[in-house]
Amino acid sequence: MTELVEKLCSAGNLSDEEMKLLITAEDTAVAELLRIRADEVRQRTYGKKVFLRGLIEISSYCRNDCLYCGIRRSNKDADRYRLDRDMILSCCESGYALGFRTFVMQGGEDAYFSDDVMCDIISEIRRKYPDCAITLSLGERSRDSYRRMKDAGADRYLLRHEAAAPDLYHSLHPDSMSLENRKNCLYTLKELGYQVGAGFMVGAPGQTTEHIIADLRFLQELQPQMIGIGPFVPHHSTPFAEEKGGTLELTLRLLGILRLMFPKVLLPATTALGTISPTGREQGLKTGCNVVMPNLSPVDVRKKYDLYDNKICTGEEAAECRMCLQRRIVSAGYEVAAERGDCAGFTS
Ligand code: SAH
Repeated sequence: MTELVEKLCSAGNLSDEEMKLLITAEDTAVAELLRIRADEVRQRTYGKKVFLRGLIEISSYCRNDCLYCGIRRSNKDADRYRLDRDMILSCCESGYALGFRTFVMQGGEDAYFSDDVMCDIISEIRRKYPDCAITLSLGERSRDSYRRMKDAGADRYLLRHEAAAPDLYHSLHPDSMSLENRKNCLYTLKELGYQVGAGFMVGAPGQTTEHIIADLRFLQELQPQMIGIGPFVPHHSTPFAEEKGGTLELTLRLLGILRLMFPKVLLPATTALGTISPTGREQGLKTGCNVVMPNLSPVDVRKKYDLYDNKICTGEEAAECRMCLQRRIVSAGYEVAAERGDCAGFTS
């Protein structure tokens, strides 16, 4: 089965049948060779650099009701908060001092963050930190909204497609949400000149290997600059409370496959991966990942951005998070890159 790894490495693609064999192969030699090849491919473009993104979780209010997510509208037990402009700017200030050159503003779909409010915050960050990249992850908005925020100074947008197969997408989301709209948002963001990130959860309830292959095919069609995948982790106050979570092994397998399919993509070792295993993020870095996203949110709100159970890094100050991740990066044999870290070859 190791020949499939070599084939994917040289051709950048496999047939659906071959992909299925590679995803499901239990042979440890496959996992090991995939790790080695993925690491070689990332080093060819990015060397040993790992880019840091300062994550600011701006709101836990959400109008959506995704079945897997702890901050879904129907979760009446969720403790809601939102950061205001000054709090967000003060996160950027401490983040800048800690060496971050990308700020990611992520949140639920909260009507408070209208286009006017967002554009005001984005243009102020742009003015104060002209050398930094501004990334948004605020869910589905209109083309006009995406355009205005781009004009105000945003560079990148993270919007996981969540599931490219319609049946799985529908079983994870309420009827009010549509896969078509989600995909259209991603194409619109690309057209507007954003560096775009898509992705999905590994081991989401009901997900089959065929669903995963559909995700890989969609990513090939979209050609995003960033791909975010992490294990599904159940949250106790959602309809999926009793479901099994995604595994470390399958997440690493897919990270390696993604690195070989998308040699230049920015691929984060996610917090969810660090949540299911104490060495999850280090193992991710060794299997093709080149981004980590330390938490910059104020400590008093961290626990309230409660997407899934046992989320790590909810107690530390930003500086502690930064140092902890630096140690992990170095111990895994990589180096922290104190730069914006745009996708290699990206031109808008
Ligand atoms: N509202 C924004 C941000 C969502 S939170 C948006 O719609 O894009 C960021 C990501 O967390 C989601 O895209 C989802 O893939 C992931 N996530 C949510 N709940 C999760 C869970 N229970 N386990 C693992 N990841 C989860």
